[in-house]
Amino acid sequence: MTDFTATRAMFDLPEGVIYLDGNSLGPLPRGVAARVGQAITDEWGQMLITGWNRAGWIDLPARVGDRIGRLIGAVPGSVTMGDTLSIKVYQALASALELRPERRVILSDTGNFPTDLYMADGLCRTLGPDYALKTVAPEAVEDAIDDSVAVLMITEVDYRTGRKHDMARLIAKAHAAGALVVWDLAHSAGAIPVDVTGADADFAVGCSYKYLNSGPGGPAFIYIAPRLAEQVRPALSGWLGHEAPFAFDLDYRPARGVERMRVGTPPILQLAALDAALDVWEGVDMAALRARSLQLQQIFIDKVEAGCRDLIFASPRDADQRGSQVSFRHKEGYAIIQALIAEGVIGDFRAPDILRFGFTPLYLSPEDVARAAEILCDVMARSRWDRPEFKARAKVT
Ligand SMILES: *Cc1c(COP(=O)(O)O)cnc(C)c1O
Repeated sequence: MTDFTATRAMFDLPEGVIYLDGNSLGPLPRGVAARVGQAITDEWGQMLITGWNRAGWIDLPARVGDRIGRLIGAVPGSVTMGDTLSIKVYQALASALELRPERRVILSDTGNFPTDLYMADGLCRTLGPDYALKTVAPEAVEDAIDDSVAVLMITEVDYRTGRKHDMARLIAKAHAAGALVVWDLAHSAGAIPVDVTGADADFAVGCSYKYLNSGPGGPAFIYIAPRLAEQVRPALSGWLGHEAPFAFDLDYRPARGVERMRVGTPPILQLAALDAALDVWEGVDMAALRARSLQLQQIFIDKVEAGCRDLIFASPRDADQRGSQVSFRHKEGYAIIQALIAEGVIGDFRAPDILRFGFTPLYLSPEDVARAAEILCDVMARSRWDRPEFKARAKVT
């Protein structure tokens, strides 16, 4: 049984704050500052360039990748780290398309995160006029899979509504139609149980700074099914994805397996932060995490629906169809979130009208969540959001 009081004690949260935004930027685990400090002082400071070997920096993307692999059901050696998620989306898509040379369509849905769609669109433009990104409503994806589709590109959990696609089902349908699937696990890894092996996923990508708490700008991960990895030809064929980077050959030969998806020099300090942040997950049972997440969500939904009727529930009613976040709609959503933050409850706003709340059992208790709902209802009941300072939009919302 996972002890969530113990995991809570592993985070450094500011006093008086209830943090419902770990789905966007995870908070600071206590071990991170010391580990990054050590990487700076003992490794970079003392070892200088010998740190690549002596401190094992060169293997950090693979070692940390395996730790994330455990959380998403990937076998060791099938996940590596680096770059940003946008880049990893591009790499996975480009390689998947190349594995289906007779086909020209990337299929995605309108609930996908814009950067995924932008990257797909940019890739299609590079490949030529016969390549196209096609988007349909999330509910229509399954029926839109046909034998014109080269790659299905799906974000498992919708960043706005928390709606969750059925991974195994869509993969089975896509494979039957001869298509490959690229999964974006940005709101899945560390949020819900994921089994890329059991679901027979082809490619998966995700970020580490949301539920995995690596800090702002932490590196992304990429998974390739071992059955495919040796066929993959990287579009971004960087030297650290080469079979022998230090041979300095003029010709590119991909490294073994997923290591070929490395591009350039990895961000060692961010990887050290992530490595320490992943200590929190040791001994966490994902089924227990899921049960606790749904319990927290239900407490919040019940209290908000009973106490603030102006907010319209915007997530699936069926808990099985939700990730680890819950959303409500209101036309003054931005100002309401700002007023809520001023009261110590941090959620976020997504245009045009979504108030979004993430539920992260590692550091949130049922009491926290109940209290957050009460504060939200008080903000609504007294129209505390209705002030000019809460309506002025900041650069990042
Ligand atoms: C958060 C998120 C991103 C962010 O991409 P970056 O390159 O890390 O900025 C991309 N896709 C999805 C689905 C996300 O939720």
